[in-house]
Amino acid sequence: MPINITLPGQSNESQAPAGRVVGIDLGTTNSLVAYVENGKAKIIEGADGKLVPSVVTLDDYGGVVAVGVKARQRSMMDAAHTVYSVKRLMGKSYQDVKKEAGMLSYKLLQADEGLVRIQIGNKLYTPIELSSFVLLELKQRAEEFFGEPVTRAVITVPAYFNDAQRHATKDAGRLAGLDVLRIISEPTAAALAYGLDRKNDGTVAVYDFGGGTFDISILKIKNGIFEVLSTNGDTYLGGDDIDRRLMDLFITQIQHINPGFVPTPEQIQRIRTVAEKAKIDLSTHMKVMIEIDIPEAGIAYRRNLTNEEFKRVAKSVIDRTRKPCEDAIRDAKLDVDDLDEVVLVGGSTRMPMVKELVKDIFKRKPHDELNPDETVALGAAIQADILAGDTKDVLLLDVTALSLGIETMGGMMSTIIPRNTTIPTTATDNYTTFVDDQTGVEINVFQGERDFVKDNRHLASFTLKGIPPLPAGAAKVSVTFLIDADGILHVRAIETHTGIEQTVAVKPSYGLTDEEVERMLRDSITNAPADIAARRLVEAKTEAQRILGATEKVLGQLRRGQLNITAAKLKQINVGAVIDALYALRRAVNSEDPVEITKQQNLLESATEPLAKEIMNASISEALTGKTVEQV
Ligand code: ADP
Ligand code: MG
Repeated sequence: MPINITLPGQSNESQAPAGRVVGIDLGTTNSLVAYVENGKAKIIEGADGKLVPSVVTLDDYGGVVAVGVKARQRSMMDAAHTVYSVKRLMGKSYQDVKKEAGMLSYKLLQADEGLVRIQIGNKLYTPIELSSFVLLELKQRAEEFFGEPVTRAVITVPAYFNDAQRHATKDAGRLAGLDVLRIISEPTAAALAYGLDRKNDGTVAVYDFGGGTFDISILKIKNGIFEVLSTNGDTYLGGDDIDRRLMDLFITQIQHINPGFVPTPEQIQRIRTVAEKAKIDLSTHMKVMIEIDIPEAGIAYRRNLTNEEFKRVAKSVIDRTRKPCEDAIRDAKLDVDDLDEVVLVGGSTRMPMVKELVKDIFKRKPHDELNPDETVALGAAIQADILAGDTKDVLLLDVTALSLGIETMGGMMSTIIPRNTTIPTTATDNYTTFVDDQTGVEINVFQGERDFVKDNRHLASFTLKGIPPLPAGAAKVSVTFLIDADGILHVRAIETHTGIEQTVAVKPSYGLTDEEVERMLRDSITNAPADIAARRLVEAKTEAQRILGATEKVLGQLRRGQLNITAAKLKQINVGAVIDALYALRRAVNSEDPVEITKQQNLLESATEPLAKEIMNASISEALTGKTVEQV
């Protein structure tokens, strides 16, 4: 199966019109656009700075009023028309995000197929559309800077983003008029920027703590090749959570003085802004003065917030980054001491207490020489440059976060690509039909770590039709999984006799929540013994059914005189013993005891041996007299 990988120096972009390529960090909180000039990556600055807050203000009729800094300012006057943190909704179902609804100042609705919609005024938007407005702003910023069209981009996503979330991001790029050359993981991009700067080999941990997501990746850099050994993280963990806690603290205290005060969405935005500013100031100050004035509600709240008190509020949020780090190190099959560097990425890593925690987890002082806001965009620009064919001798490898497989008999999961496999990757497995003359095979694709598909996440189903009618087990269906460089899965199933083929790009309507991913991984460990026993039973039953079917078929043919076996020969074969063994196996199948099933199955096989031998002999002599085996 051909895989299209664009390697440095053999770019397949040659037919595409040469235009500017950029790298985009589409962040939950802030986005940036960067480019490479003379081998050096640079951020493209706008009139109001480098960061474009990922915030959009809309009117009642679908018009975009403002994006970025201006939209963020407007949120304090007009929260109902302002959308932020859309990245948290990308590629998710309404079910996945409904617990968020109360914390967001905009309204989430459930659309067809459980998809999530954001209502602003009279209009409903998908997260993809809203993200595309941010991307369009970045595209226009770059076009103004270059004075020419920008049509191609590399966009980054958190390493933990699943298939659906990557798809959604790519779609947003397309909607903004960008040809998305590649979707890459943020920590990978950061390491790319970092590795290129340093040009030395080693194992690097990238700790990316932003506004809305936390990512940890362990990468190996060798001879210009970046290989992601493992990834972990939490798409619901970031500086936002600290802001929210401070905000809750302030609101509770305000309510203490002004009972009955319930903030409006605009007031919440104002308090949130004060909370975030206090948090940022406390990265460099020992204490800050909090001032919240809401004259319309008669509120003039003043208090000092010391670093000590802030630490108590923020600690449990920051501590949640520890476990993913430990898991990532373990998944990479490494020890903390095996790591050469730890790199800090994301605005929240500016907090001294975060640096302390990282130092404690990784037992060394982290590298903080890179600008934590810019690293990801710079790496994306470098990757864009590689794909455009300008930077040579760098190859970027990434991994898949969850195992992928298909359902086999008895609801079992047959893993085709295990988690943490380097992508792009392709793997093939062969399957057969289960009953005679079966002309269709349904392929159900699942993602997860458990032995039974019911415990994993269903991704897609498709049917392979038109298989020629053959005896059970004769048809061979070969299933190929391809995970492309964007981390998006394609499945191809082919019946090898006929060459009948079906391909699907797996595009689920929603993705897995982090909790689900975590639960799936956890369950696969705690339920392993139970799964093994259940797996053994299903396998024994499946095999027994196959043998029962084959034996019954032969006995039927024998009864109807369809087998060319002489009466003399037949007498030598103890058919009664075969029938007894058949009944015994049937009873065993209902016993739910895999040991008993296997025992009876072996007995039936020995009982049928003489019969099988005769059938074989008969068909050979038939063949010699001009008949084929099929005509027997
Ligand atoms: P994202 O990748 O989620 O878009 P960023 O990497 O831009 O996020 O980080 C944004 C977060 O960093 C915000 O929560 C912001 O408050 C926080 N942040 C930025 N500067 C500082 C600082 N000096 N101290 C603490 N937090 C900061
Ligand atoms: Mg980020």
